[in-house]
Amino acid sequence: MARIIDGKVLAAQRRARVAAGVAEFCARNGRAPGLEVVLVGDDPASAVYTRNKEKAAAEVGIRGVLHRLPDTTSEAWLVDFVASLNANPAIDGILVQLPLPRGIDVNRIIDAILPSKDVDGFHPMNAGMLSVGREGLVPCTPRGCMALLDAHLEAVGEGLDLGGKHAVVIGRSNIVGKPLGQLLLARNATVTMAHSRTRDLPAVCRTADILVAAVGRAAMVRADWLKPGAIVLDVGINRTADGKLCGDVDSEAAMAVAGALTPVPGGVGPMTIAMLLENTLLAASRRVG
Ligand code: NAP
Repeated sequence: MARIIDGKVLAAQRRARVAAGVAEFCARNGRAPGLEVVLVGDDPASAVYTRNKEKAAAEVGIRGVLHRLPDTTSEAWLVDFVASLNANPAIDGILVQLPLPRGIDVNRIIDAILPSKDVDGFHPMNAGMLSVGREGLVPCTPRGCMALLDAHLEAVGEGLDLGGKHAVVIGRSNIVGKPLGQLLLARNATVTMAHSRTRDLPAVCRTADILVAAVGRAAMVRADWLKPGAIVLDVGINRTADGKLCGDVDSEAAMAVAGALTPVPGGVGPMTIAMLLENTLLAASRRVG
């Protein structure tokens, strides 16, 4: 039976650590770290995500501000708005919630964010820093996956070095798959990036000591795709016909084959926000020197 890697417990521990760090930051600098979240339009899922981020920031003492902008906001106006946040010294982190309404070029907005305040880690400068092994800001979901992996390895008494391990990442998005592949590679795993054009995906997955599913297709990864004992990180968030949340892995069947598995909900999801708070504190600490 697979060991469940509990993201709720780990996220709570990491948030408590951020709260302590924020208190120290406030004592030293006479102000709290500041995070500005920008929501454009009225996408209901984005409204929930941004409200949760604002709330989570407040809980650890970060000064979080949520800007709700109408979906008539123009690209040029948004670029200027981001520039005003860049220029404000009391702001340490800027997050523009994706997706943006049609007509706004997402790359233009990401490029407008100062890399040192880019707490989502999506700016090409931060993506580049990650790929050349230098310190920038790393996207939250991949960081959360690595934290879950490390917590599991520590709990079972295994070393954190992934040398000799084969990691397969299904999904090559800029926000999850690619940066996670880089993080696994930096930890000496042998990494295979799989995607929609990969031939015989089940056979590729069966070679994985660590399997990450970041696709967005409910229960796509079946138990017979898994190497017995594999560590499985399920990033996918999908809704079943009856409205329940489920991941990309057929978790019930996978439990009998995998060595460890992150649940959905309660796995990677809670870690993403915890990592956003960590990135904000990190950005703030680097800015004050
Ligand atoms: P995305 O940008 O849509 O990327 C999906 C990736 O899956 C693409 O690389 C795509 O390949 C690949 N793919 C699609 N169908 C496939 C198939 N049949 N076989 C193999 N690969 C396939 O998605 P994303 O933003 O990375 O998100 C992935 C999932 O993670 C979604 O369910 C999302 O909701 C979830 N997510 C969760 C969190 C969290 O906090 N837990 C955060 C972010 C995302 P191609 O590149 O070839 O098209």
